[in-house]
Amino acid sequence: MNHEELSGLYELYTLGVLEEPERAEIDQHLGANCPECQAGVKGALRLNALLATLPEGVEPSRQLRQRVMASVGVEPALSRFWKNAWALAAVALAMVLVVMAIDSHRRGQDSWLPRAAGDSRCLMRPDLRKRAGIDRK
Ligand SMILES: [Zn+2]
Repeated sequence: MNHEELSGLYELYTLGVLEEPERAEIDQHLGANCPECQAGVKGALRLNALLATLPEGVEPSRQLRQRVMASVGVEPALSRFWKNAWALAAVALAMVLVVMAIDSHRRGQDSWLPRAAGDSRCLMRPDLRKRAGIDRK
């Protein structure tokens, strides 16, 4: 393995997660005081130390989060919430209409439309009023 191939492994080596035989190869280079591997391991230790000092829990702004999520094709959670809310409202409205129709049917009327028309004493033709069940005689 040449130094170009080893250069991508120094971070894993310093973290102690590099597998054999790559680990043994870097050990050999360091044992032979290879200047390139010594510099590579030193740089990896510095990078690991820097990463360890980064503050945790830094939250991106809402706009940045939305832009990043949109760039990978993920909808914002709020948008999904409102889509579900509208679907739920539509289902609830449909259920209310079904309950109103059943209630209207139980009261002996075909629907609430003829009842409303009868209540307002609209000028409906008598034959249509009879067919709609408003005038039962
Ligand atoms: Zn080396």
